[in-house]
Amino acid sequence: MIDQATKEKILDAVRIEEVIGDFVSLRRRGANYLGLCPFHQDKNPSMSVSSTKGIFKCFSCGKAGTAVSFVMEHEHLTYPEALRYLAKKYNIEIVEKEESAEEIAGRMRHESLQIVTEYAQKYYQDVLWNTDTGRAIGLSYFRERKFTDETIRKFGLGYAAGRQHELYKDALQKGYKREYLIDTGLCVERDNGDLADRFFDRVMFPIYSVSGRVIAFGGRVLDDSKPKYVNTSATPAFKKSKNLFALNYAKNTDAGYFILCEGYMDVISINQAGFENVVATLGTALTPEQARIMAQYAIDGEIND
Ligand code: ZN
Repeated sequence: MIDQATKEKILDAVRIEEVIGDFVSLRRRGANYLGLCPFHQDKNPSMSVSSTKGIFKCFSCGKAGTAVSFVMEHEHLTYPEALRYLAKKYNIEIVEKEESAEEIAGRMRHESLQIVTEYAQKYYQDVLWNTDTGRAIGLSYFRERKFTDETIRKFGLGYAAGRQHELYKDALQKGYKREYLIDTGLCVERDNGDLADRFFDRVMFPIYSVSGRVIAFGGRVLDDSKPKYVNTSATPAFKKSKNLFALNYAKNTDAGYFILCEGYMDVISINQAGFENVVATLGTALTPEQARIMAQYAIDGEIND
């Protein structure tokens, strides 16, 4: 049994071009890598590997996936076996142990919270693109700020429309548990016991883990009301002091350094301008943990305490 923390450590360490590069000779082509596809009789290199997105795709046979699925397919391994293979490659120690009932419950809860958070990201994104309010307020705000539609989708931006499209109503109707809506920090319980959305009348910035999973949100008002930004409060998967906005993109560049910005809007603008090595703190002053994370991913990174 591989515990969740180790699994995340493995997925965070993986660089897909290194993993595939062990089996297929890859050459760089722009932002991607190109090689002969091992899943069909390939005469011309038709497999493209994106370091940034962490995925591969063959344009001839259509085979596509992540580093883990590549290893599973290529080496005929199960998912846990592929993780073990990658752990070995990246010198990550796996502590084997039997899960207790309590641990199983904890893991299921963690997974449920993750599912609810991912649902919320899609919900806010859907409101942004597919409702009148979302388009008139949220989408037009992003476009005024010169974000392209591609950029808006790349960052999974959304809109919390308040009374007109309440997340909690949609979520309860779809069967998501009230408890998880509160524990993810998406909703709050009123004194009278009613549920209410934490985020309303705000454009929504999903915050991703290093491996690219949504773990939290930052919401920004569009008028002068305060606070300008509301972030998800700390959850088991999310600690402001230990995460950086857009690190999931910034970690993949070869720049060797990071551009540290103050806000999400700055990061997205700079990223759109072609500099992916850009991150921001999450509404806090820079913490030693964040500095260490940047040093770890920057080439030849060094940090003095
Ligand atoms: Zn192929």
